[in-house]
Amino acid sequence: MPASRIYLDTNATAPLAPEVREAMEPWLHEVPSNPSGIHEPARRARAAVEDARDRVGELCGEDFRVVFTSGGTEADNLALWSAAGLPPTGHLVVSAIEHPAIHEPARALTALGVDVDLVPVDADGRVAPEAVQEALREDTRLVSIMTANNEIGTLQPISRIVEIAHARGVPVHTDAVQAAAWLDLADELGEIDMVSLSGHKIGGPPGIGALLLRTGVEVREPLIRGGGQQSGRRAGTEPTILTVGFGAACARVARRRDREARRVAALADALRSGIESTVPDIQETGTGAPRLPNTVHVCFPDCAGDALVARLDLDGVAASAGSACASGVAHGSAVLEAIGLPPRLQAGAVRFSLGYHTSEDEIAAAIERIAAAVEAVRAASLPAGS
Ligand code: PLP
Repeated sequence: MPASRIYLDTNATAPLAPEVREAMEPWLHEVPSNPSGIHEPARRARAAVEDARDRVGELCGEDFRVVFTSGGTEADNLALWSAAGLPPTGHLVVSAIEHPAIHEPARALTALGVDVDLVPVDADGRVAPEAVQEALREDTRLVSIMTANNEIGTLQPISRIVEIAHARGVPVHTDAVQAAAWLDLADELGEIDMVSLSGHKIGGPPGIGALLLRTGVEVREPLIRGGGQQSGRRAGTEPTILTVGFGAACARVARRRDREARRVAALADALRSGIESTVPDIQETGTGAPRLPNTVHVCFPDCAGDALVARLDLDGVAASAGSACASGVAHGSAVLEAIGLPPRLQAGAVRFSLGYHTSEDEIAAAIERIAAAVEAVRAASLPAGS
């Protein structure tokens, strides 16, 4: 058994925050109450849902309406399918390093006749605003570029992209699922039209997210149709307890974000330099671009990333190999391909993602365990007799 477990996989899921659990707890004991009802328990549920809606919206400033979804994936799908309309048509611009929650609906829309342009990124994973400009067409319905990448942590110049797209009358969506815990979205995103968020990436419960719509921006076609909840933008009974948890998580982010971003950036630097000084022959990814403060992406050549993650797990350190975040299964990473990382480095790629919960002691212990694990995995993969 490992001495103590060190959780460095926050980009996959952040631990549920204590204040979120506390906010949700009373709703486990409430009488069943559908927030669409008219009796008193229902009205209380409605008030809680609307209060949570306000807290979620406030993460992006004052000018947004919140459509609750089942998570970041559904929010991304809603943004794309809604932009393409029914039947889907026109042109979409997305980056080459979007999450599958963007790439997969884009692929499905392509099969239905929508044109999708994938804007390339440089070796640090950064989109050039000029490349977005070049991709825009008369029939472009939406530009969707993520605020921060989940694997390598690169930040995109969203406010500049928004200016460029708006000059041509094209709305912009951003997947801010990974950025929300670390960046002041109200400051960073300019006049962004739509923003995707996810509860479980910011200390809230899994199973809830949101698509934020700037006032005046509308869902053209809902993805989920039914009873007309959320003004028809997303049907289905709002899950009161999850919305309450998500709202509490957003309030916690608003309170702690700037302080935690500074503290965790220092811990991430300590982790980087600790790995550099204890493990020979490594390469960090995306160092030439602005980054999320919590994400350290390191390639350990001659050390299979999945074997290293398995070994670290035995030693009590949770991390992710390649793009395993989506499925728990290591597989080739479209992001690492898109930044042109050579196969030898891709094979040894591991992501360490820190959170509000991460302590200095944990980082010191993690460095020791990582150095030992890399040595063990490299030794095990040497041909016999060498
Ligand atoms: N977008 C990004 C950038 C993500 O990292 C993730 C989760 O890995 C998602 C979307 C999907 O969010 P959810 O798990 O809430 O569906």
